[in-house]
Amino acid sequence: MKPNLLGLSRDKMKALFFELGEKPFRAQQVMRWIHQRGVLDLNDMTDISKVLRGKLEQLVEIKAPNVVADYPSEDGSHKWVIEVASGSRVEMVFIPEGSRGTLCVSSQAGCSLDCGFCATGKQGWNSNLTVAEIAGQVWLARAQIDGFNAAAQRRISNVVMMGMGEPLMNFEPVMDAVSLMMDDWAYGLSKRKVTISTSGVVPAIRRMKEYTDASLAVSLHAPNDELRSRIMPINKKYPIADLIDAVKEYMASLKDKRVPVIEYTVIKGVNDHRQHARELAELLRTLPCKINLIPFNPFSLSDYRRPSDSVIRNFRVILQRAGFTVTVRTTRADDIGAACGQLVGDVEDLTRRQERYARRAEAMQNEVPEYYGQIGIERAQILASTGKAATSADDTLVLGS
Ligand code: SF4
Repeated sequence: MKPNLLGLSRDKMKALFFELGEKPFRAQQVMRWIHQRGVLDLNDMTDISKVLRGKLEQLVEIKAPNVVADYPSEDGSHKWVIEVASGSRVEMVFIPEGSRGTLCVSSQAGCSLDCGFCATGKQGWNSNLTVAEIAGQVWLARAQIDGFNAAAQRRISNVVMMGMGEPLMNFEPVMDAVSLMMDDWAYGLSKRKVTISTSGVVPAIRRMKEYTDASLAVSLHAPNDELRSRIMPINKKYPIADLIDAVKEYMASLKDKRVPVIEYTVIKGVNDHRQHARELAELLRTLPCKINLIPFNPFSLSDYRRPSDSVIRNFRVILQRAGFTVTVRTTRADDIGAACGQLVGDVEDLTRRQERYARRAEAMQNEVPEYYGQIGIERAQILASTGKAATSADDTLVLGS
C-alpha cells in the first residue's frame, strides 16, 4: 500500500524525502500545501519540480477520508460521518463557541471498553483509525468549515480526542496525528489546545511523555473503585490509584503549569449523590486539576438518566467549596446525536457486543412486565390504603426504585 502523505508526521515526511535524495525543506513545502492550503493534488503544488512530482506520483497517495453524511445542529454545531478504510463509519463534531471552535475527533471505529454511559461503547470495536484518518478529520473539518481560508473567522482553535474510541488503545497513530495537529508545518495548534482524553489506559499514559506534550483529560466518572468498575470495566484492570499516579507522572513531565481535566459524567442515582462529590474531593485532594461535570446525555441503549439541574448544581458547589475549579459542560448538538457520549457511527462490530446487548435487551423485555406488574399491584395497595390517586406512570418507577 502506498503511504498517504496526509498522515505522515514531520519526521516521517523528512525521512521520505531523505530516501528520495531530496532536501528536508521539500517535506516542509509538501506539508504546507496539504495541511495549510488544503491541496491534495501533487500537480497543484507549483513550487515542487515536475520531476519530483512525477516521482511522488508513483510512490505515494494523498487522500482524505470520505464524508458520507453531515448534520448541522440548530445550535451551530456540526456533525460529519466519515467512512474509513475498514468500511465502518465514524463521527466527528465541530462545536463553535464565541471566537473558539472545538473539533471533537475520533480515533477508533467503535470501542472495546464498554463504558456504561457511552453509545460508542455499545457498538463494540471494529478497527483502529490510521494517522491519515485521524489527522484527516482536522483536514476535512477545515475544508468544510473555512475552505482553508486563513482569514476566516470560524476556525478550529481546539481539538479534543473525545470522539469515538479510546485514543490510547490506538497509541502510535494517535501520537503521530496529534504531532501533526501541533506542528507549525501543519495545523500549528498550541499544545494547550490539543487534548487527549483517556478512560485510563495506565501503561499508555506512562508512555505518553516520550511522544507528546499535549494536554490531558481523564474520564473518571466515579470517586471509588467499586463504583468506577461498575461504570467503566477498564477500572478492574487499572484501578484509580494507579491511574492518578500515571496522570501525576505525565503532568510532571510537561514544562509548564498545565493541569489535567477530570471528566465526570453525572448520572442520576448512580454517581450524583452529595457523598460522591465529597468522596471525589477527597480522592483528588493531592492532584492539581480542573473538574468538568458532564450531565449524562441519554441514548436509546442506556438505562441511565440525566440528573436534575439542582443535583448538578449541588454537586458542583461541594467541589467548589473544597477548592476545585469546576465547569459544567453545556449540552451541545444533542438534536443531531452528537452530544458527549452519543456518537455511534456505523460500526461492523468485531467484538459481537451488539449481539450480546440485543440478547440482553430481549431477555429484559420478557422480565419487565412481570416486574412492573408486581410493583403496580403493590402500588395499587399503597394507594388504596392511603386514599391517594395515581398521578403519572413515573410514580410507579419511583416506588419501584
Ligand atoms: S467513553 Fe471512550 S473509552 Fe469508554 S466506551 Fe466510550 S469511546 Fe470507549
